[in-house]
Amino acid sequence: YCNLRIKMEILMGPEDVSGIPRNVSMGKIILDRLKRFGDKICFENLETEDELRCNQVLEKSVKFGKALRDYGLKKDDVMMMISDSCFELCIPLLACLYNGFIFVALNPDYTEYELSKYIELTKPKVVFTTASVLSKMKKLEIPEIKSMDDIKEMIERRTDCDVIGYEPEDLDDNQTAVIYFSSGTTGPPKGVQLTHRNLRMCAVQTGANYFNANVSDVMLFNLPCFNVIFLFPLCAAVVHGARVLLLSKLKPEVFLSTIERTKPTKMIFVPLLVNFVIKSPLTEKYDLSSLKHVFCGSAPIHKNTVDLFMRKFPDCVFHQIYGATETSVAILFNDMLDGKTASVGRLMANNQAKVVDMGSGKILGPGAIGELCFKGESITKGYYLNEAADLQNFDADGFLHTGDVGYYDQDRFFYIVDRIKDIIKYKSYQVSPSEIESVLLLHECVKEAAVVGIPDERSGELPAAFVVKNKDIDEQDLIDFVADHLSNYKHLHGGMRFVKEIQKNALGKIDRKVLRDIFKK
Ligand code: AMP
Repeated sequence: YCNLRIKMEILMGPEDVSGIPRNVSMGKIILDRLKRFGDKICFENLETEDELRCNQVLEKSVKFGKALRDYGLKKDDVMMMISDSCFELCIPLLACLYNGFIFVALNPDYTEYELSKYIELTKPKVVFTTASVLSKMKKLEIPEIKSMDDIKEMIERRTDCDVIGYEPEDLDDNQTAVIYFSSGTTGPPKGVQLTHRNLRMCAVQTGANYFNANVSDVMLFNLPCFNVIFLFPLCAAVVHGARVLLLSKLKPEVFLSTIERTKPTKMIFVPLLVNFVIKSPLTEKYDLSSLKHVFCGSAPIHKNTVDLFMRKFPDCVFHQIYGATETSVAILFNDMLDGKTASVGRLMANNQAKVVDMGSGKILGPGAIGELCFKGESITKGYYLNEAADLQNFDADGFLHTGDVGYYDQDRFFYIVDRIKDIIKYKSYQVSPSEIESVLLLHECVKEAAVVGIPDERSGELPAAFVVKNKDIDEQDLIDFVADHLSNYKHLHGGMRFVKEIQKNALGKIDRKVLRDIFKK
Protein backbone atom coordinates (compact mmCIF):
# COMPACT_ATOMS: atom_id res chain seq x y z
CA TYR A 1 0.00 0.00 0.00
CA CYS A 2 2.75 2.43 0.73
CA ASN A 3 6.02 2.72 -1.04
CA LEU A 4 8.00 0.75 1.47
CA ARG A 5 10.77 -1.11 -0.28
CA ILE A 6 11.19 -4.38 1.53
CA LYS A 7 14.70 -5.68 1.20
CA MET A 8 14.86 -9.39 0.54
CA GLU A 9 18.06 -10.52 2.10
CA ILE A 10 20.15 -13.06 3.83
CA LEU A 11 20.54 -12.01 7.47
CA MET A 12 24.02 -12.09 8.98
CA GLY A 13 24.54 -12.75 12.68
CA PRO A 14 27.01 -10.65 14.67
CA GLU A 15 30.69 -11.51 14.69
CA ASP A 16 31.93 -13.69 17.50
CA VAL A 17 34.03 -11.64 19.89
CA SER A 18 34.41 -14.33 22.55
CA GLY A 19 38.17 -14.65 22.20
CA ILE A 20 37.84 -18.44 22.20
CA PRO A 21 40.61 -19.63 19.84
CA ARG A 22 39.55 -20.36 16.26
CA ASN A 23 40.70 -23.07 13.89
CA VAL A 24 41.75 -25.38 16.69
CA SER A 25 40.03 -28.55 17.87
CA MET A 26 37.45 -28.42 20.63
CA GLY A 27 39.64 -30.93 22.48
CA LYS A 28 42.47 -28.37 22.59
CA ILE A 29 40.13 -25.56 23.73
CA ILE A 30 38.73 -27.66 26.59
CA LEU A 31 42.07 -29.15 27.62
CA ASP A 32 43.61 -25.70 28.04
CA ARG A 33 40.66 -24.53 30.15
CA LEU A 34 40.68 -27.64 32.36
CA LYS A 35 44.37 -27.07 33.10
CA ARG A 36 43.61 -23.47 34.01
CA PHE A 37 40.65 -24.29 36.32
CA GLY A 38 42.66 -26.83 38.36
CA ASP A 39 40.68 -28.29 41.24
CA LYS A 40 37.53 -26.26 40.68
CA ILE A 41 34.36 -28.39 40.95
CA CYS A 42 32.70 -28.61 37.55
CA PHE A 43 30.01 -31.26 38.06
CA GLU A 44 27.99 -32.44 41.03
CA ASN A 45 25.42 -35.23 41.02
CA LEU A 46 22.73 -34.29 43.52
CA GLU A 47 21.37 -37.82 43.84
CA THR A 48 24.65 -39.65 44.46
CA GLU A 49 26.50 -36.61 45.88
CA ASP A 50 29.43 -37.49 43.58
CA GLU A 51 31.41 -34.57 42.26
CA LEU A 52 34.06 -34.05 39.62
CA ARG A 53 36.78 -31.43 39.65
CA CYS A 54 38.37 -30.01 36.52
CA ASN A 55 41.72 -31.70 37.19
CA GLN A 56 39.97 -35.05 37.67
CA VAL A 57 38.11 -34.62 34.40
CA LEU A 58 41.41 -33.75 32.75
CA GLU A 59 43.25 -36.79 34.12
CA LYS A 60 40.48 -39.30 33.47
CA SER A 61 39.70 -38.09 29.97
CA VAL A 62 43.34 -38.00 28.85
CA LYS A 63 43.95 -41.49 30.24
CA PHE A 64 40.75 -42.86 28.78
CA GLY A 65 41.67 -41.49 25.34
CA LYS A 66 45.05 -43.26 25.57
CA ALA A 67 43.34 -46.49 26.59
CA LEU A 68 41.00 -46.23 23.60
CA ARG A 69 44.02 -45.84 21.34
CA ASP A 70 45.39 -49.05 22.85
CA TYR A 71 42.19 -50.70 21.67
CA GLY A 72 43.13 -49.66 18.15
CA LEU A 73 40.67 -46.78 17.84
CA LYS A 74 41.74 -44.31 15.15
CA LYS A 75 40.67 -40.89 13.99
CA ASP A 76 37.12 -41.02 12.53
CA ASP A 77 36.23 -44.24 14.37
CA VAL A 78 32.94 -44.16 16.25
CA MET A 79 32.81 -44.75 20.00
CA MET A 80 29.34 -45.34 21.41
CA MET A 81 28.14 -44.88 24.99
CA ILE A 82 24.80 -46.30 26.06
CA SER A 83 24.49 -45.24 29.64
CA ASP A 84 22.16 -43.61 32.12
CA SER A 85 22.16 -39.86 32.22
CA CYS A 86 25.25 -38.93 34.22
CA PHE A 87 27.81 -36.16 34.02
CA GLU A 88 30.59 -38.78 33.79
CA LEU A 89 29.63 -38.98 30.11
CA CYS A 90 31.88 -35.95 29.72
CA ILE A 91 34.94 -38.20 30.15
CA PRO A 92 34.51 -40.41 27.05
CA LEU A 93 33.24 -37.38 25.16
CA LEU A 94 36.40 -35.38 25.92
CA ALA A 95 38.61 -38.43 25.26
CA CYS A 96 37.08 -38.55 21.77
CA LEU A 97 37.58 -34.81 21.25
CA TYR A 98 41.31 -35.01 22.01
CA ASN A 99 41.85 -37.90 19.61
CA GLY A 100 39.48 -37.26 16.71
CA PHE A 101 37.22 -40.24 17.53
CA ILE A 102 33.51 -39.68 16.96
CA PHE A 103 31.37 -39.76 20.09
CA VAL A 104 27.83 -41.12 20.07
CA ALA A 105 25.65 -41.35 23.19
CA LEU A 106 22.40 -43.29 23.27
CA ASN A 107 19.51 -43.49 25.67
CA PRO A 108 19.77 -46.80 27.61
CA ASP A 109 15.98 -47.09 27.61
CA TYR A 110 15.96 -47.69 23.88
CA THR A 111 14.43 -51.01 22.92
CA GLU A 112 16.45 -53.73 21.17
CA TYR A 113 14.83 -52.67 17.92
CA GLU A 114 15.96 -49.06 18.36
CA LEU A 115 19.46 -50.00 19.52
CA SER A 116 20.00 -52.18 16.48
CA LYS A 117 18.90 -49.32 14.17
CA TYR A 118 21.27 -46.80 15.76
CA ILE A 119 24.18 -49.24 15.78
CA GLU A 120 23.52 -49.98 12.12
CA LEU A 121 23.50 -46.26 11.33
CA THR A 122 26.74 -45.34 13.10
CA LYS A 123 28.78 -48.58 12.91
CA PRO A 124 30.67 -48.08 16.21
CA LYS A 125 34.06 -49.73 16.72
CA VAL A 126 33.63 -49.72 20.48
CA VAL A 127 30.48 -49.63 22.62
CA PHE A 128 30.41 -48.96 26.36
CA THR A 129 27.29 -49.75 28.25
CA THR A 130 25.70 -50.97 31.46
CA ALA A 131 24.69 -54.50 32.44
CA SER A 132 21.00 -54.02 31.65
CA VAL A 133 21.71 -52.75 28.14
CA LEU A 134 24.25 -55.50 27.55
CA SER A 135 21.56 -58.14 27.97
CA LYS A 136 19.50 -56.35 25.30
CA MET A 137 22.53 -56.05 23.03
CA LYS A 138 23.35 -59.72 23.28
CA LYS A 139 20.01 -60.45 21.61
CA LEU A 140 20.85 -58.27 18.62
CA GLU A 141 22.15 -59.62 15.36
CA ILE A 142 25.41 -57.72 15.53
CA PRO A 143 28.86 -59.20 15.03
CA GLU A 144 30.07 -61.03 18.10
CA ILE A 145 31.38 -58.93 20.95
CA LYS A 146 35.14 -59.39 20.74
CA SER A 147 36.22 -58.30 24.20
CA MET A 148 34.91 -56.55 27.27
CA ASP A 149 36.56 -54.06 29.57
CA ASP A 150 35.66 -51.71 32.37
CA ILE A 151 36.04 -47.95 31.89
CA LYS A 152 37.20 -47.32 35.44
CA GLU A 153 39.83 -50.03 35.20
CA MET A 154 40.94 -48.84 31.79
CA ILE A 155 41.63 -45.43 33.31
CA GLU A 156 43.31 -46.79 36.44
CA ARG A 157 45.61 -49.05 34.43
CA ARG A 158 47.17 -45.99 32.74
CA THR A 159 49.68 -45.15 35.44
CA ASP A 160 52.31 -44.14 32.87
CA CYS A 161 50.52 -41.09 31.46
CA ASP A 162 51.93 -37.53 31.55
CA VAL A 163 48.65 -35.67 31.89
CA ILE A 164 50.09 -32.18 32.33
CA GLY A 165 52.37 -32.51 29.31
CA TYR A 166 49.65 -34.10 27.16
CA GLU A 167 48.79 -32.42 23.89
CA PRO A 168 45.69 -33.46 21.93
CA GLU A 169 45.78 -34.41 18.25
CA ASP A 170 46.09 -31.56 15.82
CA LEU A 171 42.69 -31.80 14.14
CA ASP A 172 40.96 -29.85 11.41
CA ASP A 173 37.99 -28.08 13.03
CA ASN A 174 35.73 -29.53 10.33
CA GLN A 175 36.41 -32.96 11.84
CA THR A 176 33.25 -34.70 13.07
CA ALA A 177 33.22 -34.62 16.87
CA VAL A 178 29.87 -36.08 17.88
CA ILE A 179 26.76 -37.60 16.35
CA TYR A 180 23.28 -37.05 17.78
CA PHE A 181 20.06 -38.30 16.26
CA SER A 182 17.38 -36.20 14.65
CA SER A 183 14.65 -36.81 12.14
CA GLY A 184 15.41 -33.67 10.14
CA THR A 185 12.34 -32.39 8.37
CA THR A 186 11.06 -35.83 7.54
CA GLY A 187 11.79 -39.57 7.67
CA PRO A 188 13.37 -41.81 10.28
CA PRO A 189 16.09 -40.65 12.70
CA LYS A 190 19.46 -39.89 11.12
CA GLY A 191 22.87 -39.21 12.63
CA VAL A 192 23.61 -35.48 12.74
CA GLN A 193 27.36 -34.86 12.62
CA LEU A 194 28.54 -31.94 14.73
CA THR A 195 32.09 -30.83 14.10
CA HIS A 196 34.72 -29.36 16.39
CA ARG A 197 33.84 -25.97 14.85
CA ASN A 198 30.14 -26.52 15.70
CA LEU A 199 31.05 -27.42 19.28
CA ARG A 200 33.23 -24.33 19.54
CA MET A 201 30.07 -22.35 18.79
CA CYS A 202 28.38 -24.01 21.78
CA ALA A 203 31.31 -22.65 23.81
CA VAL A 204 30.78 -19.20 22.26
CA GLN A 205 27.04 -19.28 22.93
CA THR A 206 27.39 -20.33 26.55
CA GLY A 207 29.83 -17.43 27.05
CA ALA A 208 29.58 -13.63 26.96
CA ASN A 209 26.59 -11.99 25.22
CA TYR A 210 24.46 -15.12 25.45
CA PHE A 211 24.36 -17.53 28.41
CA ASN A 212 27.23 -15.67 29.97
CA ALA A 213 28.18 -18.69 32.09
CA ASN A 214 31.09 -17.91 34.40
CA VAL A 215 32.92 -19.07 37.51
CA SER A 216 30.36 -17.56 39.86
CA ASP A 217 27.46 -19.46 38.25
CA VAL A 218 25.67 -22.48 39.58
CA MET A 219 23.67 -24.22 36.87
CA LEU A 220 21.08 -26.82 37.73
CA PHE A 221 20.58 -29.22 34.85
CA ASN A 222 17.84 -31.80 34.77
CA LEU A 223 17.70 -32.87 31.13
CA PRO A 224 19.29 -36.00 29.67
CA CYS A 225 23.09 -36.03 29.26
CA PHE A 226 22.87 -38.31 26.21
CA ASN A 227 21.08 -35.56 24.28
CA VAL A 228 22.67 -32.73 22.26
CA ILE A 229 21.48 -30.26 24.92
CA PHE A 230 24.21 -31.63 27.24
CA LEU A 231 26.77 -29.71 25.15
CA PHE A 232 25.57 -26.51 26.85
CA PRO A 233 26.10 -27.43 30.52
CA LEU A 234 29.29 -29.18 29.43
CA CYS A 235 30.67 -25.98 27.89
CA ALA A 236 29.38 -23.89 30.80
CA ALA A 237 31.38 -26.12 33.15
CA VAL A 238 34.61 -26.97 31.34
CA VAL A 239 35.03 -23.87 29.15
CA HIS A 240 33.59 -21.15 31.39
CA GLY A 241 34.10 -22.60 34.86
CA ALA A 242 30.47 -22.72 36.05
CA ARG A 243 29.45 -25.37 38.59
CA VAL A 244 26.88 -27.68 37.02
CA LEU A 245 24.56 -29.64 39.29
CA LEU A 246 22.81 -32.63 37.83
CA LEU A 247 19.37 -33.74 38.94
CA SER A 248 18.11 -36.56 36.78
CA LYS A 249 14.82 -37.35 38.49
CA LEU A 250 12.04 -34.96 37.79
CA LYS A 251 9.71 -35.19 40.76
CA PRO A 252 7.96 -31.82 41.16
CA GLU A 253 8.55 -31.38 44.86
CA VAL A 254 12.20 -32.53 44.66
CA PHE A 255 12.78 -30.20 41.73
CA LEU A 256 11.51 -27.15 43.62
CA SER A 257 13.17 -27.98 46.93
CA THR A 258 16.46 -28.57 45.08
CA ILE A 259 16.32 -25.09 43.59
CA GLU A 260 15.69 -23.63 47.03
CA ARG A 261 18.54 -25.62 48.57
CA THR A 262 21.23 -25.38 45.87
CA LYS A 263 20.45 -21.83 44.70
CA PRO A 264 21.18 -22.14 40.98
CA THR A 265 21.68 -18.88 39.10
CA LYS A 266 20.88 -20.27 35.64
CA MET A 267 18.78 -23.11 34.29
CA ILE A 268 17.66 -24.56 30.98
CA PHE A 269 13.93 -25.25 30.87
CA VAL A 270 11.63 -26.92 28.36
CA PRO A 271 8.09 -25.50 27.96
CA LEU A 272 6.54 -28.29 30.04
CA LEU A 273 8.67 -27.24 33.00
CA VAL A 274 7.78 -23.56 32.58
CA ASN A 275 4.10 -24.48 32.64
CA PHE A 276 4.62 -26.53 35.75
CA VAL A 277 6.47 -23.75 37.57
CA ILE A 278 3.87 -21.10 36.81
CA LYS A 279 0.80 -23.29 37.39
CA SER A 280 1.67 -25.56 40.28
CA PRO A 281 0.51 -24.39 43.72
CA LEU A 282 3.65 -26.09 45.06
CA THR A 283 5.81 -23.30 43.60
CA GLU A 284 4.59 -20.85 46.24
CA LYS A 285 6.09 -22.99 49.00
CA TYR A 286 9.68 -22.60 47.78
CA ASP A 287 12.17 -19.80 47.43
CA LEU A 288 13.34 -19.76 43.82
CA SER A 289 14.84 -16.28 43.98
CA SER A 290 18.41 -17.43 43.23
CA LEU A 291 17.41 -17.97 39.59
CA LYS A 292 18.52 -15.00 37.50
CA HIS A 293 18.29 -16.45 33.98
CA VAL A 294 16.10 -19.18 32.54
CA PHE A 295 16.71 -20.37 28.98
CA CYS A 296 13.85 -22.18 27.30
CA GLY A 297 13.65 -23.93 23.95
CA SER A 298 12.97 -27.21 22.16
CA ALA A 299 9.26 -26.63 21.54
CA PRO A 300 6.87 -23.70 21.07
CA ILE A 301 5.87 -21.71 24.12
CA HIS A 302 3.00 -19.25 24.21
CA LYS A 303 3.65 -15.54 24.80
CA ASN A 304 1.13 -15.54 27.68
CA THR A 305 3.13 -18.28 29.40
CA VAL A 306 6.34 -16.26 29.08
CA ASP A 307 4.60 -13.10 30.37
CA LEU A 308 3.16 -15.01 33.30
CA PHE A 309 6.57 -16.44 34.17
CA MET A 310 8.13 -12.97 34.10
CA ARG A 311 5.40 -11.54 36.32
CA LYS A 312 5.83 -14.36 38.79
CA PHE A 313 9.64 -14.10 38.80
CA PRO A 314 10.42 -10.43 38.14
CA ASP A 315 14.10 -10.83 39.04
CA CYS A 316 14.65 -13.65 36.58
CA VAL A 317 15.17 -12.99 32.87
CA PHE A 318 13.36 -15.47 30.64
CA HIS A 319 15.22 -16.18 27.39
CA GLN A 320 13.67 -18.10 24.55
CA ILE A 321 16.12 -20.01 22.44
CA TYR A 322 15.41 -21.76 19.20
CA GLY A 323 17.44 -24.45 17.58
CA ALA A 324 17.65 -28.06 16.53
CA THR A 325 20.12 -30.91 16.71
CA GLU A 326 21.30 -29.76 13.27
CA THR A 327 22.12 -26.28 14.62
CA SER A 328 24.27 -27.60 17.50
CA VAL A 329 21.60 -26.74 20.09
CA ALA A 330 20.86 -23.04 19.46
CA ILE A 331 20.80 -20.62 16.53
CA LEU A 332 18.33 -17.93 17.69
CA PHE A 333 18.51 -16.29 21.10
CA ASN A 334 16.28 -13.74 22.77
CA ASP A 335 18.36 -11.57 25.13
CA MET A 336 15.08 -9.90 26.22
CA LEU A 337 16.64 -6.43 26.11
CA ASP A 338 13.81 -5.41 23.77
CA GLY A 339 11.09 -7.12 25.83
CA LYS A 340 9.72 -9.05 22.84
CA THR A 341 8.38 -11.99 24.79
CA ALA A 342 6.76 -13.70 21.81
CA SER A 343 9.99 -13.93 19.87
CA VAL A 344 12.44 -16.85 19.77
CA GLY A 345 15.15 -14.23 19.33
CA ARG A 346 17.80 -13.02 16.94
CA LEU A 347 20.42 -14.83 14.94
CA MET A 348 23.45 -15.87 16.98
CA ALA A 349 27.09 -15.09 16.08
CA ASN A 350 28.80 -16.42 12.96
CA ASN A 351 25.62 -17.66 11.32
CA GLN A 352 23.33 -16.61 8.49
CA ALA A 353 19.58 -16.94 8.08
CA LYS A 354 17.00 -16.58 5.38
CA VAL A 355 13.26 -17.03 5.26
CA VAL A 356 12.08 -18.53 1.98
CA ASP A 357 8.74 -18.85 0.27
CA MET A 358 7.64 -22.46 0.61
CA GLY A 359 6.40 -22.65 -2.96
CA SER A 360 8.93 -20.70 -5.01
CA GLY A 361 11.96 -20.88 -2.69
CA LYS A 362 12.42 -17.09 -3.08
CA ILE A 363 14.01 -15.19 -0.21
CA LEU A 364 11.45 -13.14 1.73
CA GLY A 365 11.79 -9.87 3.61
CA PRO A 366 10.72 -8.80 7.12
CA GLY A 367 7.19 -9.77 8.14
CA ALA A 368 6.74 -12.33 5.37
CA ILE A 369 6.07 -15.90 6.50
CA GLY A 370 8.16 -18.73 5.08
CA GLU A 371 10.53 -21.55 5.97
CA LEU A 372 13.46 -20.72 8.27
CA CYS A 373 16.82 -21.70 6.79
CA PHE A 374 20.29 -21.40 8.33
CA LYS A 375 23.92 -21.61 7.33
CA GLY A 376 27.12 -20.99 9.29
CA GLU A 377 29.41 -22.16 12.02
CA SER A 378 26.66 -23.68 14.17
CA ILE A 379 25.19 -25.80 11.39
CA THR A 380 25.94 -29.49 10.92
CA LYS A 381 28.12 -30.44 7.99
CA GLY A 382 25.59 -33.16 7.18
CA TYR A 383 24.03 -36.46 8.18
CA TYR A 384 26.38 -39.36 8.91
CA LEU A 385 26.71 -41.70 5.91
CA ASN A 386 23.45 -40.39 4.48
CA GLU A 387 23.79 -38.26 1.36
CA ALA A 388 20.12 -38.62 0.48
CA ALA A 389 19.20 -36.89 3.74
CA ASP A 390 21.73 -34.11 3.01
CA LEU A 391 20.14 -33.51 -0.38
CA GLN A 392 16.72 -33.37 1.19
CA ASN A 393 17.61 -30.98 4.02
CA PHE A 394 20.19 -28.61 2.46
CA ASP A 395 19.65 -26.38 -0.57
CA ALA A 396 22.12 -25.61 -3.35
CA ASP A 397 23.44 -22.58 -1.43
CA GLY A 398 24.27 -24.74 1.58
CA PHE A 399 21.39 -23.54 3.78
CA LEU A 400 19.78 -26.05 6.14
CA HIS A 401 15.99 -26.09 5.71
CA THR A 402 14.45 -26.51 9.13
CA GLY A 403 10.86 -27.32 8.24
CA ASP A 404 9.84 -24.60 10.69
CA VAL A 405 7.63 -21.79 9.43
CA GLY A 406 8.07 -18.25 10.71
CA TYR A 407 9.17 -14.70 9.99
CA TYR A 408 11.40 -11.94 11.34
CA ASP A 409 10.37 -8.39 12.21
CA GLN A 410 12.03 -5.05 11.35
CA ASP A 411 14.39 -5.50 14.32
CA ARG A 412 15.36 -8.97 13.06
CA PHE A 413 13.63 -10.83 15.87
CA PHE A 414 12.28 -14.19 14.72
CA TYR A 415 8.85 -15.69 15.41
CA ILE A 416 7.83 -19.32 14.87
CA VAL A 417 4.37 -19.75 13.38
CA ASP A 418 4.04 -23.41 12.42
CA ARG A 419 5.85 -26.48 11.26
CA ILE A 420 5.77 -27.89 7.75
CA LYS A 421 7.85 -30.85 8.72
CA ASP A 422 6.32 -34.17 9.62
CA ILE A 423 8.16 -34.59 12.89
CA ILE A 424 5.94 -34.81 15.97
CA LYS A 425 7.11 -33.02 19.11
CA TYR A 426 5.91 -34.97 22.12
CA LYS A 427 7.07 -33.39 25.42
CA SER A 428 10.11 -31.89 23.63
CA TYR A 429 11.07 -35.28 22.18
CA GLN A 430 11.29 -35.68 18.43
CA VAL A 431 9.05 -38.46 17.22
CA SER A 432 9.43 -39.59 13.63
CA PRO A 433 6.08 -40.68 12.15
CA SER A 434 7.86 -42.89 9.63
CA GLU A 435 9.69 -44.76 12.39
CA ILE A 436 6.37 -45.69 14.05
CA GLU A 437 4.85 -46.46 10.64
CA SER A 438 7.67 -48.87 9.84
CA VAL A 439 7.08 -50.67 13.14
CA LEU A 440 3.33 -50.92 12.48
CA LEU A 441 4.12 -52.36 9.05
CA LEU A 442 6.13 -55.15 10.69
CA HIS A 443 2.79 -56.49 11.97
CA GLU A 444 1.19 -59.07 9.70
CA CYS A 445 -2.28 -57.55 10.10
CA VAL A 446 -1.23 -54.07 8.95
CA LYS A 447 -1.54 -53.24 5.28
CA GLU A 448 -0.89 -49.49 5.46
CA ALA A 449 -0.14 -47.08 8.29
CA ALA A 450 0.15 -43.34 8.74
CA VAL A 451 1.16 -41.56 11.92
CA VAL A 452 0.49 -37.90 12.76
CA GLY A 453 0.77 -35.65 15.80
CA ILE A 454 -2.46 -34.40 17.30
CA PRO A 455 -2.27 -31.17 19.29
CA ASP A 456 -2.31 -31.56 23.05
CA GLU A 457 -2.09 -28.76 25.58
CA ARG A 458 0.12 -30.63 28.05
CA SER A 459 2.44 -32.59 25.80
CA GLY A 460 2.56 -30.48 22.66
CA GLU A 461 1.54 -33.24 20.28
CA LEU A 462 0.50 -36.87 20.74
CA PRO A 463 1.52 -39.54 18.20
CA ALA A 464 -1.59 -41.16 16.72
CA ALA A 465 -2.00 -43.69 13.91
CA PHE A 466 -4.33 -44.47 11.04
CA VAL A 467 -4.15 -48.09 9.95
CA VAL A 468 -5.57 -50.05 7.03
CA LYS A 469 -5.73 -53.66 8.16
CA ASN A 470 -5.20 -56.94 6.31
CA LYS A 471 -6.68 -59.24 8.88
CA ASP A 472 -8.79 -58.71 11.93
CA ILE A 473 -7.03 -57.27 14.96
CA ASP A 474 -7.85 -55.02 17.91
CA GLU A 475 -6.67 -51.44 18.15
CA GLN A 476 -5.14 -52.14 21.55
CA ASP A 477 -3.06 -55.03 20.16
CA LEU A 478 -1.43 -52.68 17.68
CA ILE A 479 -0.89 -50.00 20.30
CA ASP A 480 0.85 -52.66 22.43
CA PHE A 481 2.86 -53.86 19.44
CA VAL A 482 4.29 -50.36 18.95
CA ALA A 483 4.97 -50.13 22.69
CA ASP A 484 6.96 -53.39 22.58
CA HIS A 485 9.23 -52.04 19.87
CA LEU A 486 9.77 -48.38 20.72
CA SER A 487 10.61 -46.17 23.70
CA ASN A 488 7.78 -44.66 25.68
CA TYR A 489 7.79 -41.28 23.96
CA LYS A 490 7.18 -42.98 20.59
CA HIS A 491 4.11 -44.91 21.80
CA LEU A 492 0.68 -44.11 20.33
CA HIS A 493 -0.33 -41.76 23.16
CA GLY A 494 -2.93 -40.22 20.86
CA GLY A 495 -4.49 -43.61 20.07
CA MET A 496 -5.22 -45.18 16.71
CA ARG A 497 -8.03 -45.63 14.27
CA PHE A 498 -8.76 -48.17 11.53
CA VAL A 499 -9.61 -46.68 8.14
CA LYS A 500 -10.43 -48.05 4.70
CA GLU A 501 -7.72 -46.05 3.00
CA ILE A 502 -5.03 -43.51 3.81
CA GLN A 503 -5.16 -40.11 2.16
CA LYS A 504 -2.24 -39.47 -0.18
CA ASN A 505 -1.31 -36.39 -2.15
CA ALA A 506 -0.73 -36.23 -5.90
CA LEU A 507 2.80 -37.57 -5.48
CA GLY A 508 1.56 -40.59 -3.55
CA LYS A 509 2.94 -39.25 -0.26
CA ILE A 510 0.87 -39.51 2.89
CA ASP A 511 -1.05 -36.26 3.29
CA ARG A 512 -0.47 -35.74 7.00
CA LYS A 513 -2.21 -32.39 7.13
CA VAL A 514 -5.52 -33.93 6.00
CA LEU A 515 -5.07 -36.74 8.53
CA ARG A 516 -4.29 -34.31 11.37
CA ASP A 517 -7.48 -32.42 10.55
CA ILE A 518 -9.52 -35.65 10.74
CA PHE A 519 -8.13 -36.36 14.21
CA LYS A 520 -8.74 -32.77 15.31
CA LYS A 521 -12.39 -33.09 14.35
P1 AMP B 1 15.49 -31.12 18.11
O1 AMP B 1 16.38 -31.42 16.95
O2 AMP B 1 14.96 -32.32 18.80
O3 AMP B 1 16.10 -30.13 19.06
O4 AMP B 1 14.18 -30.40 17.50
C1 AMP B 1 14.28 -29.22 16.77
C2 AMP B 1 12.93 -28.64 16.53
O5 AMP B 1 12.31 -28.25 17.77
C3 AMP B 1 12.93 -27.34 15.74
O6 AMP B 1 13.09 -27.57 14.36
C4 AMP B 1 11.57 -26.77 16.11
O7 AMP B 1 10.53 -27.39 15.39
C5 AMP B 1 11.45 -27.13 17.57
N1 AMP B 1 11.89 -26.01 18.43
C6 AMP B 1 13.07 -25.83 19.04
N2 AMP B 1 13.10 -24.69 19.76
C7 AMP B 1 11.91 -24.09 19.58
C8 AMP B 1 11.32 -22.87 20.05
N3 AMP B 1 11.95 -22.03 20.86
N4 AMP B 1 10.06 -22.60 19.64
C9 AMP B 1 9.40 -23.43 18.81
N5 AMP B 1 9.88 -24.59 18.35
C10 AMP B 1 11.13 -24.93 18.73
